[in-house]
Amino acid sequence: MASVTLKNVSKSFGAYDVIRSIDLEIADGEFTVFVGPSGCGKSTLLRLIAGLVPVSEGDVFIGGEQVTDVPASKRGLAFVFQSYALYPHMNVSRNISFALETARLGRDEIRRRVTKVAEMLKIGHLLDRRPRQLSGGQRQRVAIGRALVGQPEVFLFDEPLSNLDADLRMEMRFEIAKLHADVKTTMIYVTHDQTEAMTLADRIVILNQGRIEQVGRPRELYDRPANRFVAGFLGSPR
Ligand code: ADP
Ligand code: MG
Repeated sequence: MASVTLKNVSKSFGAYDVIRSIDLEIADGEFTVFVGPSGCGKSTLLRLIAGLVPVSEGDVFIGGEQVTDVPASKRGLAFVFQSYALYPHMNVSRNISFALETARLGRDEIRRRVTKVAEMLKIGHLLDRRPRQLSGGQRQRVAIGRALVGQPEVFLFDEPLSNLDADLRMEMRFEIAKLHADVKTTMIYVTHDQTEAMTLADRIVILNQGRIEQVGRPRELYDRPANRFVAGFLGSPR
């Protein structure tokens, strides 16, 4: 696990400022949720941390090291997206282990890790199936397993549950909370869903038009919103 720090990070696409001078410190092992209305810059901010998109200004630090110019594949991160992007022609086991096959691990070590991750995510009985033989929730578990098996320093989630129906979403929310309690990896989770933010987060970052409106523990934000936007967004009584 590792801390994540943003110093004066901005991102523009052409003349359009999407992320504006963001300073943020995320502690080792913390579960941070970025929340805000559609289009406010949540995904872009996550991609800047991941290195999938270059910053226009400022610096990104992971584990205290400046990684602003380090490519995504070398940042020690795992990314779980809304769409599962599993390999359709590979079974679950290979979908999970695929990323490890280039990591020079022995076959036994790979099998050990896949088994452990599959058990954790309750997909141990599905290892021989193809993605099309799985439900949406099972697919998302495989996607999480694939991210987890590489033992990342930081786990990034971009609206991972928004394609699931309400019941599954609740179940998976619980699974993700449990996963964090088990592995204690630093997790940054993007959602536009206030309930998801309130129940999962150690700390919530409220974004609006590329800026941070407020950062704090869920209860703090709810009880003492810094402004009307935060109060309105979280439905605080005022
Ligand atoms: P969110 O995830 O909060 O919905 P995004 O980070 O996806 O928001 O997008 C923030 C804004 O930046 C949106 O207005 C979006 O259209 C714009 N944007 C995102 N990516 C690009 C891009 N590659 N080129 C141009 N504009 C972009
Ligand atoms: Mg988004």
